[in-house]
Amino acid sequence: MMLGLLLARAGVSVLVLEKHADFLRDFRGDTIHPSTLEVMHELGILEELLRLPHQQVGRLAGQFGDFPLTIADFTHLSTRCKFIAMMPQWDFLDFLVRRAKIFPTFQLEMRAEATELIEDEGRVMGVRAVTPAGPLEVRADLVVAADGRSSVLRERAGLSVEDMGAPMDVFWFRLSRRPQDPAVTMGRFDIGRIFVLINRGEHWQCGYVIPKGSAEEVRRRGLDAFRAEVAHLAPWAADRASEIRDWEDVKLLTVKVDRLRQWYRPGLLCIGDAAHAMSPVGGVGINLAIQDAVATANLLWEPLRAGRPTIAELRRVQARRQWPTRVTQRLQVLVQRRVITRALQGGQGRLVPPCAIKLLARYPLLQRLPARLVGVGVRPEHVRSPAI
Ligand SMILES: Cc1cc2nc3c(=O)[nH]c(=O)nc-3n(C[C@H](O)[C@H](O)[C@H](O)COP(=O)(O)OP(=O)(O)OC[C@H]3O[C@@H](n4cnc5c(N)ncnc54)[C@H](O)[C@@H]3O)c2cc1C
Repeated sequence: MMLGLLLARAGVSVLVLEKHADFLRDFRGDTIHPSTLEVMHELGILEELLRLPHQQVGRLAGQFGDFPLTIADFTHLSTRCKFIAMMPQWDFLDFLVRRAKIFPTFQLEMRAEATELIEDEGRVMGVRAVTPAGPLEVRADLVVAADGRSSVLRERAGLSVEDMGAPMDVFWFRLSRRPQDPAVTMGRFDIGRIFVLINRGEHWQCGYVIPKGSAEEVRRRGLDAFRAEVAHLAPWAADRASEIRDWEDVKLLTVKVDRLRQWYRPGLLCIGDAAHAMSPVGGVGINLAIQDAVATANLLWEPLRAGRPTIAELRRVQARRQWPTRVTQRLQVLVQRRVITRALQGGQGRLVPPCAIKLLARYPLLQRLPARLVGVGVRPEHVRSPAI
């Protein structure tokens, strides 16, 4: 959607296909990072965005066993907004749609599921989609696969995937929030368990992290056992564990960390999770997807105005975004190995925080480093595509 907005703003004809009827999905986290807010400022729409209901998170907190600490302090960032804006993704996406529709070259087709690539002599010429009104065939100078971590289009394109592995999956559910609850968004690490609580104003978005492939085992232990776990991990919300009425209220989100070796083919470019599925570690995947969109618009608006981008032009997008992706994924995999796997392995005794975490607690200045990595990321992008 972000790329659609940027390209339409630069006078390129864009059609965005979205398979769902709305953006009311729960699966991607609700974080809008300082770097994304900077992009909104560059587009002149930051103030309007921040008029939508949101919470401003200046610090991320964690608890390792009995050891509480601040992990990231965003208040010293050099960006305009020194916080993560927590806003439902559907509100953010609806906002982008409203802004994109101002441009006459923007079109959006909801309930249009891309299913196949149209190819001619090895070149992608468009996509076939399924819609309630019947099949749709779209021909285009460029197809951008931004269809997420289970991308159908990248699979159809036969692009080869490097899998970095993830040791966990996440049960995703909500609990109501009360005024006397802690205000801070936090992660609680304990022997055998990790529990993430994201302050969403009226409710808590909860992530209960489990070892990969163990969802059935957790379900077999029963809902009462699950509720008891939740009550143990967030004792102040124990009376609300009964809000989890059945397993329908608890969605299983499978975590992947992978990336394409090559993000493009003639006529096709993959960006966001379709090019590099991100772990939820650090909550940075949305930021990377948006940064990909900004870089793509910067590099391709002009070739697209002229017609079909060449393979060298598509290669430039990967060359620009590959390094930030690799660095971020390497850090995510490191945290998965050193912190998440260790915590989930369980065992006896108390969870001892890793050295790096102890250092963060001892030297608060160091909390600016994770803040920079999470809030801004590696090689932040700025809008260079024009408004025509
Ligand atoms: C449990 C979990 C929690 C996370 N929490 C966070 C977080 O807090 N912050 C953060 O920054 N990142 C988080 N992430 C990572 C983040 O969700 C992704 O990195 C990010 O959503 C990628 O954005 P995207 O636009 O590439 O793909 P998506 O957000 O997955 O968007 C893809 C879109 O394409 C549509 N689509 C899919 N297939 C088709 C098709 N065939 N035809 C048409 N449309 C299609 C989908 O409906 C969707 O709207 C989390 C990930 C997980 C697994």
